[in-house]
Amino acid sequence: MDTTCLFCQIANGELPVELLERAENYVVFRDIAPQAPEHLLVVPTRHVACLSAHDAPAELGELFAAAARWGRGVGPAGYRLVVNEGQDAGQTVAHLHLHLLAGRHLSWPPG
Ligand code: 5GP
Ligand code: ZN
Repeated sequence: MDTTCLFCQIANGELPVELLERAENYVVFRDIAPQAPEHLLVVPTRHVACLSAHDAPAELGELFAAAARWGRGVGPAGYRLVVNEGQDAGQTVAHLHLHLLAGRHLSWPPG
């Protein structure tokens, strides 16, 4: 755990966030600044700074499987998964997370 990392603190229960799911390797909770009617974050419990730094494919698979399960639930008409990495993509929290967006038409291409 990185004690200075916001998502480590959330995953470890040190910040009062309502978790929608807690599994051994990930947590799911609502984004504080939702960009769609449904905006969830799927976050590995273990600190990994970004997708490129991830080194455990099975754990990544579990993360995506969880996102797909939640996506089907909150976005029966469709959903989008987003991973922002680095400055150009606007990553603001240096702990890997999948954005799950649903509940409205999502235009393409993204901004
Ligand atoms: P990024 O910009 O790194 O892809 O996404 C970080 C996301 O974390 C943003 O969408 C932001 O709204 C969300 N976020 C930042 N701080 C908090 C927080 O304290 N609680 C929750 N639930 N979400 C947060
Ligand atoms: Zn972290």
